[in-house]
Amino acid sequence: MKIESRFAWFGRRIVPIDEARISILSSSVNYGLAVFEGIRAYWLKDRAEALVFRLADHIERLRRNARILFMDLPLADEEVADAVLALLAEEAIRGDAYVRPLLYRADHELGPCAHIGSSELSMFATPLARYANVTDGVRVVVSSWRRTGDASIPPRGKIAGSYVNAALAKSEAILAGADDAILLGSDGTVSEATVSNLFAVRGGRLVTPPVSAGILEGITRDTVIVLARELGLEVVERAMGRSELYVADELFLVGTATEVAPVVEIDRRAVGNGKPGPVACRLADALDEVVHGRSAKHASWCRPVPVANR
Ligand code: PMP
Repeated sequence: MKIESRFAWFGRRIVPIDEARISILSSSVNYGLAVFEGIRAYWLKDRAEALVFRLADHIERLRRNARILFMDLPLADEEVADAVLALLAEEAIRGDAYVRPLLYRADHELGPCAHIGSSELSMFATPLARYANVTDGVRVVVSSWRRTGDASIPPRGKIAGSYVNAALAKSEAILAGADDAILLGSDGTVSEATVSNLFAVRGGRLVTPPVSAGILEGITRDTVIVLARELGLEVVERAMGRSELYVADELFLVGTATEVAPVVEIDRRAVGNGKPGPVACRLADALDEVVHGRSAKHASWCRPVPVANR
């Protein structure tokens, strides 16, 4: 999937994308010392306006995760939010979009060391309709790679370097003819997919690995838990074994890019009847309502991109 950005937020202002360059001397390039976010903006055709979903929560997660690498967001939360909105306005994408803030190291230190150096923020925005096949569902395999755990490279940190782990698993899955991979943690229990959290449906209840299972504390995971409970579904966060995935009634992946993607096949076994399941579809619809600003209850999760700037 190609990134199509005309502009970037770089050096604390919007610049043409070709001017947003990081030095080969940066420890973010050499050692993966960077923390990032992924944020979605949904295009409302009828209002010719975009809504950014849970912007404040993404910024807060970035600020908190930065601490893991002794990094600091160089701007106040509201300044980061303004930068996201200004960039989206400048890109003027008339469709769904994805924003990628990256907190990186601009100084030039030899040797990997987390606590030395200052941090800078960059961002790009690109059109993104679908990342996963949410309509037909996705086919996954359990990866032979294990998820980096909290004792190696903490997955909760959304640390650039930890995505080598995701990339190896994703390539393994695609080269094996699947769409994505589920990773087990070092203890053999289920963690998450390469860029998504995972839910199973068992006897009408939702089951998902806990935040202690070496996962990113996903904002969509949190949203889905809230929406599921509102729909009267029970949600349990507990350790899951690999074979539980084979016997589940339904499986689905959730994430900002992924949204709610039903899993229709795992390790060459059909999930349920091999079609997207009813619970996943219900939650996908509920999420769709919320991100498009059609739920009064969750209106505070949606922040419009100022139209005047467009
Ligand atoms: N896990 C991983 C490893 C991810 O990269 C992502 C995408 N950010 C997710 C889960 C889903 O998190 P969120 O819903 O916050 O996008």
